[in-house]
Amino acid sequence: MSPDSEPSKTLSVEESAGAALAAQKAMGLDKEGIPLVGGARVADPPLEPTPEFLAELQRESEALENETPQAILKWAVDRYAPKFTMATAFGPEGMTIIHMLAEIAPETPIFNLETGYQFEETMQLRERVRERYGVTVEYKYPKMSVEEFEKENGGPVYLTDPNRCCFERKLRVLHEAARGWHAWASAIRRDQSEDRAKAPIVGWDKKFQLVKISPLANWTKQQVWSLIMKEGIPYNPLHDRGYPSIGCQPCTRSVMAGEDERAGRWSGFQKTECGLHN
Ligand code: SF4
Repeated sequence: MSPDSEPSKTLSVEESAGAALAAQKAMGLDKEGIPLVGGARVADPPLEPTPEFLAELQRESEALENETPQAILKWAVDRYAPKFTMATAFGPEGMTIIHMLAEIAPETPIFNLETGYQFEETMQLRERVRERYGVTVEYKYPKMSVEEFEKENGGPVYLTDPNRCCFERKLRVLHEAARGWHAWASAIRRDQSEDRAKAPIVGWDKKFQLVKISPLANWTKQQVWSLIMKEGIPYNPLHDRGYPSIGCQPCTRSVMAGEDERAGRWSGFQKTECGLHN
């Protein structure tokens, strides 16, 4: 299927939500997607979002509001390593953070959700990161291969129910991958979407029970690209072909001039996020 192909058949919002909830229950998550063990929410090791801890995070976030991304990352490493990690889809913001971490703390574990549907160009970027920084981004895989998943579901799930497909091939994997950490870096920028506009520099990620640090929250797209060009940071060549935001190949199309930078994601569906950041 080409990146520009339009999905043909959709489930209703209710059907889609019901299927996602059933899948969450089946894997031992509550309705907010938080792991349950014996009916209790867990994090390993537990990091309790007590009112005092949340207030502390808010204070730290406000104190870091005008700091550089590098200073924010340095703070995150000092405070949370070796329980500090990063998930990346190799977008320009993620590449910027990888570049900064390679200077500040190259031992920081970084992983990618390898859904089996990523662009070849994205996979190649992982190799370029290894060559440039000596950093191996670890792939985290869903339990089922693409073939097994599509066979079990009678075809590609992204065509009919991208929410469930993202849940099965990204969120489910991410929940597993998030266990055992205290904090992670996020590459979101506040000006990317309404959903992201209120992201704090440091906040509690309720869904994954981790401290979420967004060093680029205050940066603009232009600042990100200026640094990429200045430092020669590797980036996905699809960005030069009209793809400002890149996810899985079947759910990403190029955008036209004037379109929102995330308009090419899940085009044809009322979906703008994979569920990782909202
Ligand atoms: S982006 Fe598309 S192919 Fe990738 S996990 Fe989500 S729905 Fe599936």
